[in-house]
Amino acid sequence: MHDVIIIGAGPAGLSAAFWCDELGLDTLVLEQADAIGGQLHRVYNPINNYLGLKTRNGRELLEYFSADVDDAGFDLWTGAEIESIDLRAKRVSLRSGERLQAIAIVIATGVRQRTLDIPGEREFAGRGMIESATRDKDLFAGQDVCVVGGGDAAVENALLLAEVCPTVTVVHRGKKLRARREFVERLQPNHAVTVFTESVLTRIIGDDRVEAVEILRKDGLKPFQLAVRGVLIRIGVEPNTGLFREQLEVDQQGYVTVSSEQETSVAMVFACGDVSNPRAPTISGATGAGATAAKVIGQRLNAQRSNG
Ligand SMILES: Cc1cc2nc3c(=O)[nH]c(=O)nc-3n(C[C@H](O)[C@H](O)[C@H](O)COP(=O)(O)OP(=O)(O)OC[C@H]3O[C@@H](n4cnc5c(N)ncnc54)[C@H](O)[C@@H]3O)c2cc1C
Repeated sequence: MHDVIIIGAGPAGLSAAFWCDELGLDTLVLEQADAIGGQLHRVYNPINNYLGLKTRNGRELLEYFSADVDDAGFDLWTGAEIESIDLRAKRVSLRSGERLQAIAIVIATGVRQRTLDIPGEREFAGRGMIESATRDKDLFAGQDVCVVGGGDAAVENALLLAEVCPTVTVVHRGKKLRARREFVERLQPNHAVTVFTESVLTRIIGDDRVEAVEILRKDGLKPFQLAVRGVLIRIGVEPNTGLFREQLEVDQQGYVTVSSEQETSVAMVFACGDVSNPRAPTISGATGAGATAAKVIGQRLNAQRSNG
């Protein structure tokens, strides 16, 4: 029996664990990936907005987090695949056979990139699929590329690619790009960029690597092909809540609903970070919410223990 089981070792889960440990709680963190850090592994841009620390990218910030994690006393299992979870009973079963129980659970499972689920998308991973313009733009310099999406992330990536690529075709499902005005204003006069609105990507085509995409326009009868060497998809994110979504209250998009104490609709089950749909998903927001959850758990357990 642990005091707290924390699911997810991104900024929110690590902060919650760090605070639980400070408060003397017996804490176990379960991370399904082989390494801690969550989305920090995909932040290739400099992080200039985490108070007190500027880093070249997410991995460098993670090095600072890791130093604190190594010094802390909580248990951390990476590669921990949860088979099932009973939130009311606070029981967790792992695929490896372990059966675990706690007094409180913290859900810090974050979000993942949405995928198009079209032919070619998975097959060409690492062979023409662009993960990040910041990281990959030199690899795609001089090549025609396609960006899917119409929000900030898609348009920002398109602008970066347009610095080095002869053509950048932006394919967006909606009528208008949703990105902030300054991004859209920089995109419009850019001769390298063509925007197809009300259009969808239906297939990514190639032999050994990406050679073309198939685009269907709303007013078109059948898809047409466009020769490109790279495809970047940024169509938003979705919460990692599949494991327990039926057991607690979630909003329309599947994010966990929480109180100002980060508590979910199930008593002594807390959620923090991106999975709880913060107005502004940030590293500082995630670490702050993790700290709140830990402090509330500490206070509740103290009260229980001194009463009984
Ligand atoms: C490209 C990019 C750039 C960004 N730039 C900035 C920036 O400059 N400044 C800023 O403040 N923020 C930035 N962010 C946002 C920031 O990274 C996130 O807000 C933050 O990582 C959220 O932390 P989290 O712990 O809630 O979730 P995550 O970082 O998503 O971590 C969740 C963890 O839970 C694990 N997990 C999921 N499901 C399970 C399961 N079933 N069992 C066990 N473990 C599970 C995941 O493997 C992951 O490790 C950026 C994000 C991206 C993608």
